[in-house]
Amino acid sequence: MSNVKSLEQLEQKQDFIRRHIGPDANQISAMLAELGVSSVEELMNETVPASIRLEQGLSIGESRTEVETLSYLKSVASKNKIFKSYIGQGYHPTHTPNVILRNVLENPGWYTAYTPYQPEIAQGRLESLLNFQTLSMDLTGLDLASASLLDEATAAAEAMALAKRVSKAKKANIFFIAEDVHAQTIDVVATRAEQFGFEVVVGPAADAVNHEIFGALFQYPSTTGEVVDVQDLIADVQDKKAIACVAADIMSLILLKAPGKLGADVVLGSAQRFGVPMGYGGPHAAFFATRDKYKRSLPGRIIGVSKDRLGNDALRMAMQTREQHIRREKANSNICTAQVLLANMAAFYAVYHGAEGLRTIASRINRFASILATGLKAKGVTLKHDTWFDTITVTSNKDEVVARAEAAEINFAKNHDGEFSISVNETTTREDVAELFDIILGAGHGLDVAALDAQVTADNITGIPASLVRDDEFLTHPNFNSYHSETEMLRYIKRLENKDLALNHSMISLGSCTMKLNATAEMIPITWPEFANMHPFCPLDQAEGYQVMINELHDWLVDVTGYDAVSMQPNSGAQGEYAGLIAIRKYHESRGEGHRNVCLIPSSAHGTNPASAQMASMKVVVVECDKQGNVDVADLKAKAEEVSENLSCIMITYPSTHGVFEDTIKEICDIVHQHGGQVYMDGANMNAQVGVTSPGFIGSDVSHLNLHKTFCIPHGGGGPGVGPIGVKSHLAPFMPNHSVINVPGTTEGNGAVSAAPYGSAAILPISWAYIAMMGSEGLKQATETAIISANYLTEKLSEHYPILYRGQNNRVAHECIVDLRPLKESSGISEMDVAKRLMDYGFHAPTMSFPVAGTLMIEPTESESKVEIDRFIEAMISIRKEIAKVESGEWTVENNPLVFAPHTQADVLGNEWERAYDRFYAAFPVPAVAKDKFWPTVTRIDDVFGDRNLICSCPAVDTYRDE
Ligand SMILES: *Cc1c(COP(=O)(O)O)cnc(C)c1O
Repeated sequence: MSNVKSLEQLEQKQDFIRRHIGPDANQISAMLAELGVSSVEELMNETVPASIRLEQGLSIGESRTEVETLSYLKSVASKNKIFKSYIGQGYHPTHTPNVILRNVLENPGWYTAYTPYQPEIAQGRLESLLNFQTLSMDLTGLDLASASLLDEATAAAEAMALAKRVSKAKKANIFFIAEDVHAQTIDVVATRAEQFGFEVVVGPAADAVNHEIFGALFQYPSTTGEVVDVQDLIADVQDKKAIACVAADIMSLILLKAPGKLGADVVLGSAQRFGVPMGYGGPHAAFFATRDKYKRSLPGRIIGVSKDRLGNDALRMAMQTREQHIRREKANSNICTAQVLLANMAAFYAVYHGAEGLRTIASRINRFASILATGLKAKGVTLKHDTWFDTITVTSNKDEVVARAEAAEINFAKNHDGEFSISVNETTTREDVAELFDIILGAGHGLDVAALDAQVTADNITGIPASLVRDDEFLTHPNFNSYHSETEMLRYIKRLENKDLALNHSMISLGSCTMKLNATAEMIPITWPEFANMHPFCPLDQAEGYQVMINELHDWLVDVTGYDAVSMQPNSGAQGEYAGLIAIRKYHESRGEGHRNVCLIPSSAHGTNPASAQMASMKVVVVECDKQGNVDVADLKAKAEEVSENLSCIMITYPSTHGVFEDTIKEICDIVHQHGGQVYMDGANMNAQVGVTSPGFIGSDVSHLNLHKTFCIPHGGGGPGVGPIGVKSHLAPFMPNHSVINVPGTTEGNGAVSAAPYGSAAILPISWAYIAMMGSEGLKQATETAIISANYLTEKLSEHYPILYRGQNNRVAHECIVDLRPLKESSGISEMDVAKRLMDYGFHAPTMSFPVAGTLMIEPTESESKVEIDRFIEAMISIRKEIAKVESGEWTVENNPLVFAPHTQADVLGNEWERAYDRFYAAFPVPAVAKDKFWPTVTRIDDVFGDRNLICSCPAVDTYRDE
């Protein structure tokens, strides 16, 4: 045979597949040999029950190269028409500082990190999130803020839920929303209220007190731009023992009196215009602040300051025990993945500009609005309000002006009643304002921007009532006053990045979280202006590129899931659960069976399942698992029988959260269906299904997918995520719609679950590109490789640790659970000690104590090479030997490298060293570590101290001094 390759061979179509899948053919053969099987097919036959194996492959087509994919996607993106947006309504053009764009948004050190559950190797993003909380507290004038929620509208829904929990007006069942709140917020809050059984009343703000309310929501400034004095409204609400909530615009808060100072109990809003592109609706971070006394009711995560073992300040997620993982159906909210990356961007925007820079930006925006208002009034144009920050509403000639604007590639907000609104923003220029005059007044109107500016300045026209002008200091902490040059900023970002372990350092084998490759080619399109700079409420015909991309992704996800329709709106997995449960509930109602309200949930379920069921007002009945970790079918039968009349659904994860393909899954679906219930299959574990089986094929009715797990959207250090739901056709009429932009294919009148019609649309190109570049064959190979790697790792570790559960033929699916409880019995070393010691070896711990306390759940994914998996195995074996030394008494349980883990440089190099092991061993326990040492920057953090002494803003400067 000749050595000369054919052109076909040279044009390797499989290019991307071999980049995405870590192990090469030789490594796969080696792993299969260790497993004692001769082919991939043989292992798959042993692992996946025959009854659920797909006979036909996916119909996505051949894999495309990176070059082909990006070039095609660029042609799709260029179908989007980027008009200048003055639409406002919660979304504004912004300048992302380039130093943040490149070094945060486009930097895998930031975007591939996981949620900071292992705080010792996450101090960088925890500091940035603390900056975000400090920013939120300073601007809102309240004592306590969370580290981001999903968007402004869902934050408002969370505010309503909080109001119900804490209000003393216990008998009241009405939540009042002022009619000048953003339309999408009213929509999302109303959807949530319906689920909870609350009544929503929308009306003029002053009407709030005429109802039996437990809470009320006002917008500041209003959606049409009025700077409403909310002080008296708030006081009236509180007189009724109800909770006063204010949705505020973050930029306006620079100039306006903080709502907290006006008495508000909750202040929330979007941080989008602090440097985060509009992205056709998301992802963006919402801020949420409230009074200290409501801290136990706060939804989402709070970052707090605690101490490490050496007494240094150290950050961590505070009150973790409150989260849905532990509290399940009693949790405050189902929120899990949030918007960490975007919260960090907004925080860095504030760090970079500082209070003075922000004041300049906000004042310039306000000046342009004032010039616009003054000029129009001089020409006799009627404005709806006498006050404004950045938005003015004109009450006449809507159709004529809007048509002129569209011809000039400009979008205004088209309100009802012949009104239109114009919101100016950070990117607006003098030329833009001149152009706006031309459009509204017609050319040759004789207005001059410079002359108007002189007039506005001389007469001190701001549109802001004197009583509402901010007069207090904010962002006085050094973090907001030290990094205003680009050099300082670059180093600050890098310094924080260095403290965090992300996928660009080593594998993060978090079971259930699927931390796989987030390929660079997948990430590139998200910052293309054609995708990044679109307002979610622009007319559909301007968003053709988005529509094409979303429709293609839709069809692929339909193929992958075996369902009939998909909604992209939910912006996290938990949000998808909630949307899916609403669909189930509405389906039952449509058949006159609205009484069905029991949700069966296996005891092993993820905490978001029961928390979401509670949000849909369902009654959770727990189904037991047997000794093998499978759903106890006898118990399921009995429970389903018991609640038959009222059975709404089961929520089940497949492969199970125990990491096995249960062979009874079809029977489980049948049992539930026989009793008139629906099957909700949690799709977080789709990475073990794609191309091999599918929820629709198995017999489920609805699932969410975590695009930020299986479909390569990076975790961002704790978000963003996308949690689309797939449904069978009978549930399709009940999927979320949107009150501002109708989502094609959904039913008129259905409520929204997210602020934007397509949720976090800007990151959908990531999953689109992944699927395109893998094709049908690549996707199936990814699943198979994930299963091979997990079984290889299981086999290797099983010689040293007990493996908790296995399925048929002793195989696992795509993850496995290592049981550390017996070792704790024999040595006193806990799963926590092992997790922290792994940091010294340069690894992030696997998922700890979920779904079983005292265990580690490991998921290698298909993206990790055998070399990396072997490194991890080596670390685990070495740790096992360390435990053995404690078992044998060579080391005491108080003095060994496990309980002192993780080791920092200061610890190892300190002057005192009274340990039973030497310093070098502490830091370099195996030779491989020395080549690429990752140093945790704090030692083990004291959780209890942090919760007892809750500090949730940047600590005062003197606490930084040495003690
Ligand atoms: C990750 C996960 C969820 C929640 O998804 P989020 O996007 O974090 O809200 C739900 N169920 C399971 C099994 C998961 O692993």
